[in-house]
Amino acid sequence: MPSLYVSTKNKDKLRELKELLGEEVEVLHPAPDDPDVDETGDTLFANALLKALEGFRRTGQLSIADDTGLEVDALDGAPGVFAARYAGENATYADNVNKLLHELRDADPATMTARFRTVICCIAEGQEPLRFDGVLEGRIIDTPRGENGFGYDPVFVPENETRTLAEMGAEEKNKISHRGRALRAFADWWRTQV
Ligand code: IMP
Repeated sequence: MPSLYVSTKNKDKLRELKELLGEEVEVLHPAPDDPDVDETGDTLFANALLKALEGFRRTGQLSIADDTGLEVDALDGAPGVFAARYAGENATYADNVNKLLHELRDADPATMTARFRTVICCIAEGQEPLRFDGVLEGRIIDTPRGENGFGYDPVFVPENETRTLAEMGAEEKNKISHRGRALRAFADWWRTQV
């Protein structure tokens, strides 16, 4: 059975990937106490590349990693690649959302358009690093709504929707999400390889 190393400890991401690739692949991942790779890149691809290369170095297996950012037009694309640390190095999801709403306090609602972007990098033996993108367009609202999901979900309403991502179920979110789209692009390529 082919195997694939995924550089994440996030159980939701691993489950999503297994659902997409089916039973015919062994999905390997870091152990809970394996050291995290520092995300020192200044682009999503640079960070995904750092993590995927480290996975390939550790295991010698086909290796993938993802990085996600949130681009808000009224903030010239911030927080962008710094989404996880927007309110500081040890910021919680709530800290980051509060900082975002504070920065947008005087913004015109028409400029609150935003998008999540996920970049997956894949390292395969003898090939240049591969890149797969997924984007979800939407807008930021000024009052958080919903209990599901994580991160900026309670303040992000996808285009053609009235609910925030945090008001959707996991399956519904995965169908439209930036990460779901990038993973499906990867899975389409992967199926051509096995
Ligand atoms: P990561 O690269 O997937 O770890 O994402 C970086 C940061 O972006 C996270 O810490 C979250 O704050 C935010 N983020 C990533 N994906 C999502 C999502 O699907 N919904 C809301 N926030 C997200």
